[in-house]
Amino acid sequence: MCDACDAVVQLTALEASEEEQRADGVPLFCGKCGEKHVYRVASCQLCGSYYFSSDVPNSPGRCMICFPPKREELDPEPEPILEDDGKPLPPSE
Ligand SMILES: [Zn+2]
Ligand SMILES: [Zn+2]
Repeated sequence: MCDACDAVVQLTALEASEEEQRADGVPLFCGKCGEKHVYRVASCQLCGSYYFSSDVPNSPGRCMICFPPKREELDPEPEPILEDDGKPLPPSE
């Protein structure tokens, strides 16, 4: 599916590998808008709509209709993990 124009591109495994060679990897070129924005998608088992799989940048990797983002995912600021004595854990590197 094209990330730029939402066109759904149906490719066989052979066509997909040819397109990957032509585009020098993913994303592939879109046949509709010509942008190099075509990523592999999965179809939702619940509602059948397409969603970008988790290897696509900025993609949640799931159907946003059936699995909308939770509140903590919208706010990426992690809560500091406190030890029993109340001191924050040292930052792990
Ligand atoms: Zn497109
Ligand atoms: Zn769904």
